[in-house]
Amino acid sequence: MRTVVAFSVALAMVAAVLSGSVRANPGDDSPMTQAPRTRPKEGPVYSRSAFDVTPLSEARVSELAKSLTPEEAHVILRQGTERPFCGTLLDNKKEGVYVCRLCGLPLFSSESKFNSGTGWPSFFAPYDVDHVAYIRDESHGMERVEIVCARCEGHLGHVFNDAPQTKTGLRYCLNSASLSFIEKGTEAPAASRPIETATACFAGGCFWGVEDRFQQVAGVIDAVSGFQGGWVKDPTYKQVCFEETGHAEAVRVVYDPKVVSYEELLAFFFRVHDPTQLNRQGPDVGVQYRSAIFAANAEQAKAAKEFVERLQQTPKFAQRRIVTQVVGPEAAGEFYPAEEYHQDYHAKHGGSCVIPSDE
Ligand SMILES: [Zn+2]
Repeated sequence: MRTVVAFSVALAMVAAVLSGSVRANPGDDSPMTQAPRTRPKEGPVYSRSAFDVTPLSEARVSELAKSLTPEEAHVILRQGTERPFCGTLLDNKKEGVYVCRLCGLPLFSSESKFNSGTGWPSFFAPYDVDHVAYIRDESHGMERVEIVCARCEGHLGHVFNDAPQTKTGLRYCLNSASLSFIEKGTEAPAASRPIETATACFAGGCFWGVEDRFQQVAGVIDAVSGFQGGWVKDPTYKQVCFEETGHAEAVRVVYDPKVVSYEELLAFFFRVHDPTQLNRQGPDVGVQYRSAIFAANAEQAKAAKEFVERLQQTPKFAQRRIVTQVVGPEAAGEFYPAEEYHQDYHAKHGGSCVIPSDE
C-alpha cells in the first residue's frame, strides 16, 4: 500500500527513520519551515510557483509511459534504483532545471545540486515544496522515505537528512532516469512551464479573513495579505494601525484566468464582506478596514466600476449605498505584503472562514 503523505509528515518520518545518525539543523530558508496553505476543494491544484500539479489520471500516466525506455520504466514505474555512479546526470554541472522524465514538472534546480559522494545526483531542496511528494518505504528491510513526483507519482528516489553541509541538511537522492534536464536559456516545453496568471487586489476589512476566503476559490493560486492605497513606503502593520499611512488592509489574489474570471472574483468579493460599511468592517473600525478594489489595469477598473453600478441597482442594495472605492492603477500605488505572521493566518491557527451561500 503506497500512501502519499504531507511534507511535514514526511520530514517527521525522515527524522524518525534516521534518529541517532547525523542530524542537520535547518535554517530559516529550509523547506522544513514552509507554512501550511488553504487550498480550494475544487478545480485544478496549483503549486506555490504557479504550476498545475493536479494529479494525473492513470490513463494519462499510461499514455506518457509509452515514451519511456525499459530501464526508465523500471525506475519510474516500479521503484527501481540505478547503480551508483552510472546515471547520466550525476556529473552535470550546467545551470538549469531538472524536470520529471514522465510528466515534465520541474523538480529540482541546479542551484540546489551538490556532490554528496554517494554516486547518485543529489539536491538539498526541491524546486517547489509542492512538486515533490513523500511515501513511507519499508521495502528491502529498511525504513526509508521515498520521493515521487507530486503530479504523476513517478518514482524519483529517496530523501535523507544526512547532509549537514547543505542549507537544509537534506539529501534528495535521485535516479538520473527519473529526470530530464533543461539547460538555462533553452525554451521549456508547455508541461514544464508555469501557467499564465493574472492578479487582482481587494480590501474588505481584516485581511486574515479576506485572504482565507479567496484561497478557497477554484482557480485561485495564491492570496497574500498586505497593504495598498497609502502613501508610506514599506509600511508595517503597526504603522498602518497607529499612524496615518492611508493604506487599507488588502489581499492580492493571483489566479488562473482560464478557470476563474475577474468578474467572478468581484462577485465573490461582494459576497464575503459588507460593501455598505464606511471605513469599517464589523468590529474593525478605521480607514485601513475600508472596502476598496485596487485595479491592476484600466480594464479591471472599468469592470469593477460597472460591477458596482449594477450591484447598486439590485434589490439587496435598494436602501443601502455601496461605499466601495474603485481605485485605478495609478492611484492604487504599490502593494506591500504584510509581515509573515499575517500570511495564511487561519491555516496556521486552525479554522477557516465560512463562505456565505448565494442569496
Ligand atoms: Zn511527474
